[in-house]
Amino acid sequence: MGMNGVSDYLVVGAGAMGMAFTDVLMNETEATVTIVDRHGRPGGHWNDSYPFVRLHQPSSFYGVNSRALGTNQKDLVGLNVGLYELASGTEVVTYFDQVMNQQFLPTGRVNYLPMCEYVGNGTVRNLASGVETHIEAAKTVDATYMNVTVPSVTAPSYEVAEGVTCIPPNGLPNIHDTPEGYVVVGGGKTAIDSCLWLLDNSVDPDVIRWVVPRDQWMLDRASIQPGDEFAEQALRRQVETMEIVAASVDADQMFDELVQQGALLQFDHSVRPTMYRCCTVTVAELEELRRIRNVVRMGRVQKIGTDHIHLDHGQILTSRDTVHVDCTADGLANRPVRPIFEPNHLTLQTVRTCQQVFSAAFIAHVEATYDDDVTKNEICTVVPHPNDTSGWMRTTRDNALNSIRWNADPGLKEWLSNARLDGFSRAKGDKVRDSRQQELVARIMEATPAALAKLDQYLEDGRAVAR
Ligand SMILES: Cc1cc2nc3c(=O)[nH]c(=O)nc-3n(C[C@H](O)[C@H](O)[C@H](O)COP(=O)(O)OP(=O)(O)OC[C@H]3O[C@@H](n4cnc5c(N)ncnc54)[C@H](O)[C@@H]3O)c2cc1C
Repeated sequence: MGMNGVSDYLVVGAGAMGMAFTDVLMNETEATVTIVDRHGRPGGHWNDSYPFVRLHQPSSFYGVNSRALGTNQKDLVGLNVGLYELASGTEVVTYFDQVMNQQFLPTGRVNYLPMCEYVGNGTVRNLASGVETHIEAAKTVDATYMNVTVPSVTAPSYEVAEGVTCIPPNGLPNIHDTPEGYVVVGGGKTAIDSCLWLLDNSVDPDVIRWVVPRDQWMLDRASIQPGDEFAEQALRRQVETMEIVAASVDADQMFDELVQQGALLQFDHSVRPTMYRCCTVTVAELEELRRIRNVVRMGRVQKIGTDHIHLDHGQILTSRDTVHVDCTADGLANRPVRPIFEPNHLTLQTVRTCQQVFSAAFIAHVEATYDDDVTKNEICTVVPHPNDTSGWMRTTRDNALNSIRWNADPGLKEWLSNARLDGFSRAKGDKVRDSRQQELVARIMEATPAALAKLDQYLEDGRAVAR
């Protein structure tokens, strides 16, 4: 049995990016859109996340551009106290459900096909019924390219012997028999959340072992806050970063100074990080995390046996009575950069580091506003997800270059300063009221050319060493 449909756009993926893209099309064009997704609800990976997941960044600039997420309150308790609220996973899923049902569907211009897999050539298949639908669309928008993976739907890449308890973080709240100890596997944000969850449940830090293959540079959430009150602080952070980079003598000294001034954070000051993936924490979270002293830095896990864990560089003891928490799913993999705009096809990617929803909304605005693909691709230079130290340098440079380009276009500048999802331009745009803030913006501009030259140089030096 088959059904057919006709739309201007076929958006594959009703995750945050597909939703943020469609939202701008709804508000800036008359286009009709079919959205397909394997999940039964919008929100993508947020449907599979662990129950204690929260946004890493304030709700204030997450979601779709046209609808506020949360109520813009500051947390009164907990490790994010004094900073703006972070939506929980369930709140994010509810929000996207409301966007779909209260905003998109009532326009009569959106056709939403949940539980449907896109199999190519305009064909989608309902996973529950097997019914195939052919969608005729002028343009297909790939909102799946970032390939987000979370532990609950990804098997560990290492071997796990029979009889070993190895669970994704989703299983933690279901623990009823207190185990002998916990081994948290993975050095990223999900592992940090799992460690903090254990500590919050009064687990003795000394029964937690944390396997960290790579230490990471982290961002301080206090510097990534919305609102006038924080605008100056956010600007000061940017000034400081650009001035430190501009004045630096080599990459190591630059990172040391960034840490010294609080522009970057690290877990253990005696271990120089090599990883950078925009992990965002508060200083209070980091302090709490430091209560865990059993940090295993022996590379990646190769196998968890019943009495030993085999790692790249050695073994540690374990037991059948230990709970292993797998936090190794890649989250945001490094994908090869593709042109975003191709004939009849768009591939959503980030045009500002780690700002997926902003990027998807911005791309939709560019799609709605400019005519030819060459111009559109020039405006939307991809800033791929960072992975390591050079990724910090590359994305800092490429973000700055994109900002310079966008702010030179009065139309884009205006759009950015009104975009809910752009926490940064809102702080800099017409909100730059007093002379102190104007002075800070001037200092950023002054330091930028030298900073960009330094970043170019360090990236080139890094490539030379690698060669
Ligand atoms: C735990 C976690 C916390 C995060 N917190 C933040 C944060 O605070 N701020 C921030 O900016 N970013 C955050 N991110 C980054 C995150 O990647 C984005 O926020 C965003 O949710 C990603 O959405 P997406 O649409 O790219 O991907 P997804 O959520 O993966 O959506 C893609 C969708 O496409 C569907 N799909 C794939 N292939 C097909 C197919 N062939 N047919 C049909 N459907 C298909 C999938 O089922 C999925 O629903 C976080 C990421 C994780 C993992």
